[in-house]
Amino acid sequence: MVAAWHGTRCRYPESQVRRCAEPAVRGGTAAHSCRPHGTPHRGEALGAQGAGLPRTPRFARLIRPIGSILRTNPPERFAVVAREVDVRRRVQMRQMSPDVAVTTFDEHVATYTPEEAMAEAGRALEAGFDLEAAKGGCPFRVDIPAYVRKVADGDFDGALAIIKQSHPFPSVFGRMCHWFCERATPALVDIGERDPDWKPPEWKLAAHPDAILHRKSPQTRGESVQQMGDGRYAGGASGNVFERPNLLMLERFVGDYGDPSRTPFVQEKPLSGAHIAVIGAGSGGLAAAWMLRRLGHEVDIYDALDVPGGMLWQGYPPFRMAKFGVRRDNDPTAWGARYVGGRYLSKEELARIIDEHDYTFLAVGASHGRRLYLPAEDAEGVWLGLDFITQVSIGHPPQVGKHCIVLGAGSTAHDAARTARRLGCAVQIFYRRSVEQMPVGERDPWMYVRNMEREGIEYRFLANPVRILTDEGNRVTGVEFVRMELGELDESGRSSVYSIPDSSFVVACDLVVEAVGEELDLSILPDGIQHDGAEVFVDRADHRTTHPKVFAGGDLIGDKGNDGAALAGIQAAHSIDSLVRGEPVKRFDSRPLR
Ligand SMILES: Cc1cc2nc3c(=O)[nH]c(=O)nc-3n(C[C@H](O)[C@H](O)[C@H](O)COP(=O)(O)OP(=O)(O)OC[C@H]3O[C@@H](n4cnc5c(N)ncnc54)[C@H](O)[C@@H]3O)c2cc1C
Ligand code: SF4
Repeated sequence: MVAAWHGTRCRYPESQVRRCAEPAVRGGTAAHSCRPHGTPHRGEALGAQGAGLPRTPRFARLIRPIGSILRTNPPERFAVVAREVDVRRRVQMRQMSPDVAVTTFDEHVATYTPEEAMAEAGRALEAGFDLEAAKGGCPFRVDIPAYVRKVADGDFDGALAIIKQSHPFPSVFGRMCHWFCERATPALVDIGERDPDWKPPEWKLAAHPDAILHRKSPQTRGESVQQMGDGRYAGGASGNVFERPNLLMLERFVGDYGDPSRTPFVQEKPLSGAHIAVIGAGSGGLAAAWMLRRLGHEVDIYDALDVPGGMLWQGYPPFRMAKFGVRRDNDPTAWGARYVGGRYLSKEELARIIDEHDYTFLAVGASHGRRLYLPAEDAEGVWLGLDFITQVSIGHPPQVGKHCIVLGAGSTAHDAARTARRLGCAVQIFYRRSVEQMPVGERDPWMYVRNMEREGIEYRFLANPVRILTDEGNRVTGVEFVRMELGELDESGRSSVYSIPDSSFVVACDLVVEAVGEELDLSILPDGIQHDGAEVFVDRADHRTTHPKVFAGGDLIGDKGNDGAALAGIQAAHSIDSLVRGEPVKRFDSRPLR
């Protein structure tokens, strides 16, 4: 608790205050020096934050003391300090500056404190956002109006109980969900004129400066703000638009602060007597197990890992997903399911489990790193991206040298690069295509370049690796590349790339991370489960495979993302339940979430 209370912006315990380089006031960049924690310090720090808020007479009516926002007295476990909140602006998240972030595996964005969460929840209610619309946008139909009110009232356990009626993963989803609720919340526009002097704080600018010159319309979603070629700002809250409530941060706060022991597991239906197997304890498998238990079935979960959580546990690096949150949300024994971990099942073992259970839900994900098959790939110091990150996630960081080359430009490459940086390496990411072709979905690729540069990670585009160089002891010493150029557009509308003759060059390094994605292990699938080599065939309305006793979801059926996998698991559980109880099979509109 000392760390949380030490100052509103400082997340380090007193012994480490010299590391703190958080902005002193909203939008500022100066480092502040923290003094020993205590009531006066706390009050001063909050006062300083309030003093930094932008104030104009026109918006004076929108700026209210927090006391007027709170509906009831909060619990005594924390003090409420009088401060002022601008209802147009989100309560700012506390973030480490990049130079501090690269020195630690702690999360670089801190969970709201109780005061911050209550202020943000109160702001959402006070400003009059349509939280019913937000609920309508949530694939899990979390009762957002009800839980936000509980947070504003200081009843965090009550808020947790409400969220857990819809899904069991508030700490996790509050960190990674694709903000369907926030996007469904209609914007609120103040009737006053646009504030001519308004400029977004630097941390809100998503794009890289090089991208700004050519930009004519905003390209990212959510609250990020972008500067256009003509100097205007667009996106987010640009002057007279209220910033939408930070619902992800509120859900994360509830997951982290709510007391799970006060929100006991609820069984909705009487015991059915059916035994269901769940293969894979990632988001898909665990969501299915959770819902199956709620619906009254016995559940046995099988996984290769000793710890449930799947990719959340092994894939996400800890600075992006705190492992305590993963442990908290992903505990199937708390729901009464049996967890059999530590064994990678073979095709025969899987077939036997399917035989022994009434139904099986299969969610084994894509847990195998894809190789580039470069010459000398077996050299010491060459890693697959997922294996490299996993070593850190499980607490055994690999020995690394001074210079790391990451090959690839998707999410695994970024996570691997940032992991290597935190292990003390100078890091370069090489990608064979151009920045516009980075595999980052609908997000702005320049945002990634900018974020990497902030952490001191360099990008090199249009460079294709051709071989790994080693010394006589088979240790990696460098990578040979050839330069590439863009050609004509192919059928998908993407430029083809060609290598430029006689353009090879060598970059010295002592660590290479191949991070070009993950693939399925289809060799374990029993006969009768059909696939096309990339994904297993299912009826998307009930997630049934071509095997009459097997359902499937998650990465295995091509649903990318933990939220999509969890939704598939919950829907499949309902379909299995209706089959077990002899009812018409429940069917859903289950188009992929993304
Ligand atoms: C580095 C990285 C970063 C990512 N970042 C994001 C992100 O920011 N946002 C996002 O939405 N998604 C992200 N993803 C993708 C996301 O993790 C997956 O889409 C999601 O985990 C899929 O869930 P799942 O349940 O299908 O599979 P998984 O979470 O992969 O779980 C599958 C489980 O099955 C087990 N298993 C596999 N084979 C066997 C077997 N034969 N026997 C026993 N057990 C087996 C595995 O051990 C694993 O625990 C990321 C992925 C990676 C690799
Ligand atoms: S964060 Fe995700 S799960 Fe939570 S309310 Fe929003 S859309 Fe629903």
